[in-house]
Amino acid sequence: MSSADWFLVDGWARGNATEVPGMLQGGSLGMLRTVSNVVQQAIIHIGTAWAIWLAFTKGVTAIDLSAFVLFYVLTGLGASLGLHRLFSHQSFRSPRWLHFLLAVFASMCMQGSPARWATDHQRHHACSDKAGDPHSPIVDPFGQPMGYWRGLYHAHWGWMFNGVVTDKAVYGRTTWGDPVLRFVSNTHYLWIALGLVLPWLWGLWLGGTYEAALSAMLWGGPVRACLMMHGVLSATSLAHRVGSQAFTTGDHSRNNWLVVVLTFGDGWHNNHHKFPRSARHGLLPGQIDIAARIIELLEWAGLVKGVVRVPPAMIEREAQNIRVRV
Ligand SMILES: [Zn+2]
Ligand SMILES: [Zn+2]
Repeated sequence: MSSADWFLVDGWARGNATEVPGMLQGGSLGMLRTVSNVVQQAIIHIGTAWAIWLAFTKGVTAIDLSAFVLFYVLTGLGASLGLHRLFSHQSFRSPRWLHFLLAVFASMCMQGSPARWATDHQRHHACSDKAGDPHSPIVDPFGQPMGYWRGLYHAHWGWMFNGVVTDKAVYGRTTWGDPVLRFVSNTHYLWIALGLVLPWLWGLWLGGTYEAALSAMLWGGPVRACLMMHGVLSATSLAHRVGSQAFTTGDHSRNNWLVVVLTFGDGWHNNHHKFPRSARHGLLPGQIDIAARIIELLEWAGLVKGVVRVPPAMIEREAQNIRVRV
């Protein structure tokens, strides 16, 4: 494999996906996935580079920062509550309007369509750090061990471009089978565009000029998506390599504070692998989990039901007293 292949396709030809249940490799679906991810990454990183250039030449305004914070929080809820805890793990039940809203905010994250994200994530849990895992830093999707840095590169970035697709027939029942999620996913680019237009309107409303609108669009669009995406991707890469383990899970999942901060609580990744359906990931004393607090608030307001909780006695029984640092 040439260095160009290594960088761009991340092991396209390294194995045979048909040998691993739930994985489809190459073909038009694999190509479509790779092209779609390249387009989303281009929007995020070209937009972020543009914002940095404007920051050095014209500075950053309070309007830019307000757009960044507002849309980081909204789309962060789409990622943590929507993509992860609701669509992937059914940790609670929501009314249709909230389901739709979380799916729209999730699409704005530019991390692939919500149904595809959740379907990939279900495969991650089914095959964690083994053959079939879409983004393990330990082994490639065909179960071949990878070196430390090669593994981190694959888990954080390369896996999006390797032409391997999760088989809907195996993992798609609760994702592609969900009409709301399917509709939002089939119109994914519409919501990406909305995620750029809304901060542009925010900037125009508060700043009154097209220059202010453009700057707010960059900070409320690509820059917030960039930080959020690398936070979420750190759960797939760092949180399977660096951090502590509170539970025995049979995989390399770790609790990682940096990921906790960037993702509103999803960085308690070792806890999460032990109890995947738990609405709360910060299960142990002192483990802050903002997303879980918001779910509890929505439950208190009567907006969500069926919140999945792990009995405290079970947490106590399963928790180790050791902390493994790598
Ligand atoms: Zn999960
Ligand atoms: Zn994981």
